Amino acid sequence: MSTSDALFARSKQVSPGGVHSPVRAFKGVGGTPRFMTGGHGAYMTDVDGRDYLDFLCAFGPLILGHGNPAVRAAAIGAIDRGWSLGTTEPYSLDLAEFITQRIPWVQSVRFVNSGTEAVMSALRVARGATGRDKILKFDGCYHGHTDSMLIKSGSGLAEAAVADSAGLDRATLSGTVVATLNDEASLEAAFARHGSDIAAAIIEPVPANYGLLPQRREYLLRLAELCRQHGALLIFDEVISGFRVGFQGAAGLYGIEPDLVTYGKVIGGGFPVGAYGGKRQYMDLVAPAGPVYQAGTLSANPVAMCAGLATLQQLADGSLYAQLESLGQRLDAAFANQRQLTFQRVGSLFWFYLAPPTAPIRSLADMQARPAAPFAPVFHALLDGGIYLAPSAYEVGFLSAAHSAAQVDAMANAVLAATASLPQG
Ligand SMILES: *Cc1c(COP(=O)(O)O)cnc(C)c1O
Repeated sequence: MSTSDALFARSKQVSPGGVHSPVRAFKGVGGTPRFMTGGHGAYMTDVDGRDYLDFLCAFGPLILGHGNPAVRAAAIGAIDRGWSLGTTEPYSLDLAEFITQRIPWVQSVRFVNSGTEAVMSALRVARGATGRDKILKFDGCYHGHTDSMLIKSGSGLAEAAVADSAGLDRATLSGTVVATLNDEASLEAAFARHGSDIAAAIIEPVPANYGLLPQRREYLLRLAELCRQHGALLIFDEVISGFRVGFQGAAGLYGIEPDLVTYGKVIGGGFPVGAYGGKRQYMDLVAPAGPVYQAGTLSANPVAMCAGLATLQQLADGSLYAQLESLGQRLDAAFANQRQLTFQRVGSLFWFYLAPPTAPIRSLADMQARPAAPFAPVFHALLDGGIYLAPSAYEVGFLSAAHSAAQVDAMANAVLAATASLPQG
């Protein structure tokens, strides 16, 4: 029995499923989750002292890898000065100015503690701004675990027996309208039926919580146009894509300006942070400037603000995105002539789906049409070889600036070796 087995047995006694977020429990891949004690650079270390090349990157935040010196110094500096104040302070101001000066559609920003909270708040602003109740979301997009968004979502629910959570407030859910990714007709039908009641459409512009499902720019443009025509706000949930697929996120990548945007993950440099922002006319509705209430005891925590700024400062000139793109291109090349798997990538987000690469996968229907080989053997082959991928077929992989070309190649080769030994589908 490994140390992780013993710790997991204890953990199940004191926490639901032994974890504090579902995917960590390895339910989708079987086996005992490895208990990690820390990370350095491109590696994580488990309780038995074993190192793993880390392509989880804490589910996205660690775009600079573990222990980045400037982020570390910023966080420690904040701790030395006082790690919680509950007052106005200059650190969130520095981060807010840094962002608003570089992202034109973010004219005003409010910091919260998680992506879930950012989404919840942005939806409230949209309802406040329009006086409407309904929210349009997309099948397979995950927006955190607020009730109205836990329908047809993804992330930990992607492989749950029941697609949506128990315990949701049904009255709240009746306000959620669901459309299909990569399908203009479904968008048009949703707006034709509910258009005058829709406060906002919220989408992951790079859907990355039910596999990676890159959308066509024309599809996103059609969504933006329908929002405009029907007086609904367009919310880009960039919690995973923000500062990851480029400094300006997917909105910058596609050249489409949302009315509101949500951030998390990278924006806190690995500390608990979320943010929502957007056009001034909407953000000025937020309390105390306006009537939409939203608050937080620990919001804009100085440690997180300083770590987030130190992270974004290293990303702002774009050179690290170029470096990540060239790492990504090594993966494209490695998987280019693969017959057993479909490889998809947007910047430093990547995903492979264990079915032949006949066409891009952009929706759940595309996935259902092409059943995949089991992911668990591939995952465990890599884990045994000291390479850590997210423990689910539906979670994406993350490259970081701490990864070397050789490490990325090693991962690709391990995936190729593991898939070669799969039964032919
Ligand atoms: C991770 C994620 C969230 C939820 O963020 P948390 O910090 O886990 O609450 C919301 N939306 C998207 C697109 C995400 O990737």
